[in-house]
Amino acid sequence: MLSPFLRHLPSLCLLIGVSVPLLPVGRIPAKRLAAPPTDREERKADTGPDAAAVKENTVLIKKQLHTDMESLETLYKYFHANPELSLLEVKTATRMARELRAAGVTVTEKVGGTGVVGILRNGPGPTVLVRCDMDALPIVEKTGLPYASKERTRDKNGNEVGVMHACGHDMHMACFVGTARVLVALKERWKGTVVFVAQPAEEIGQGAKMMLQDGLLKRFPRPDYCLALHCDSQRPHGSVAYTEGLALANVDTVEVVVKGKGGHGAHPQTTVDPIVMAAHLVLDLQTLVSREVSPMDPAVVTVGSIVGGTKSNIIPDEVRLMLTVRSTKDKVRKTLLDGIKRRPKRSPRGPTPPSRSSRSTRRSIPRR
Ligand SMILES: [Zn+2]
Repeated sequence: MLSPFLRHLPSLCLLIGVSVPLLPVGRIPAKRLAAPPTDREERKADTGPDAAAVKENTVLIKKQLHTDMESLETLYKYFHANPELSLLEVKTATRMARELRAAGVTVTEKVGGTGVVGILRNGPGPTVLVRCDMDALPIVEKTGLPYASKERTRDKNGNEVGVMHACGHDMHMACFVGTARVLVALKERWKGTVVFVAQPAEEIGQGAKMMLQDGLLKRFPRPDYCLALHCDSQRPHGSVAYTEGLALANVDTVEVVVKGKGGHGAHPQTTVDPIVMAAHLVLDLQTLVSREVSPMDPAVVTVGSIVGGTKSNIIPDEVRLMLTVRSTKDKVRKTLLDGIKRRPKRSPRGPTPPSRSSRSTRRSIPRR
């Protein structure tokens, strides 16, 4: 069976390699980038308006990839076996810098922490930024793969956690290096400047901000276009989807604590039952999207976790809910978050007014 890496690499590299930088020498046709389909659309590389050039370049890219495939797979396995959590991508960043330099790219390290920036100049033309992410997730790997991660570390609560590239950043990095190699090898087929950005701390939404604060757009050529890719397990093998602007929604994680007054389950009249209140709240939250947000704006409020109580005959003091809130516009985001705070804070019944608190953490970048 092909590894996920092998199955996806060629198509992902085609996305970056063929669709934009390797169009015929000169300008990127504006139409192509400025007016892609409004929705995600799959398009085979050989049916676009530049079919002949794309076809020719595809052959050359495939040839180059064929040469590089073994070493790129080795690189992918190295990243997979050696994951590092957000803001700790030290070995990963060093390896990325080394790979880019070896490919012939001019590299600057430690941009906004562990960020890496590579510049590949190739005459006059557009500047295209190509970006990948480098951090892994606090998950114990159970794939049983020969190159599975055995890394363990402590989370902020002191609990031992695994470290795993479960979001595909290992593949993104391998594709990124593969793209650099292809672009260097086929330099006579394109003109312009490529800015390679290997971004740290994507999972916690901080890396891009840190790189921008460290002058990413001032110290290095300012891009006319930016490209990023993400692998997608929902998509059929060999297919590529693309979209202009947002590809994924913004994420807010909200924790809601419903506070009541516990007691014996056989005497509910003496309690303020937070389980009943939480049940009301879960249903009530569903009206946020259906009644407060325009049907034209995509939005999601999901209660992914509800925890309260220990035993059938004890009414607990509190219930905790964890929500994920997705939006694609600041205005909608505000409506949703304000709406969650505004939900009734009183129990529909009960002698004591209960209370509720909510806390939200924002991830400033689109993610799954
Ligand atoms: Zn990711």
